[in-house]
Amino acid sequence: MGEIYVDGARCQGHARCWALAPETFEIDEEGYGKVIPGRENSGDELNVRKAIRNCPERAILERSDDEAPAKNEEVATS
Ligand code: SF4
Repeated sequence: MGEIYVDGARCQGHARCWALAPETFEIDEEGYGKVIPGRENSGDELNVRKAIRNCPERAILERSDDEAPAKNEEVATS
């Protein structure tokens, strides 16, 4: 599993992620969920899987390993 993150455009601040996996999610000062820094790779953990399934907005997403390279990154052509 790749890095998990909360899509701020989708999150509505239900806090279910934090209730189910407080070791991985926190609530920011505006009431929205976010991944605690350093916990981005905890997506295989049971509580995190529950949080992903129970987010009503489907706002907890995963960055896949084959995501497009960053702007300045070189792309191999062969
Ligand atoms: S459960 Fe989903 S919508 Fe609610 S705070 Fe967490 S990420 Fe946001």
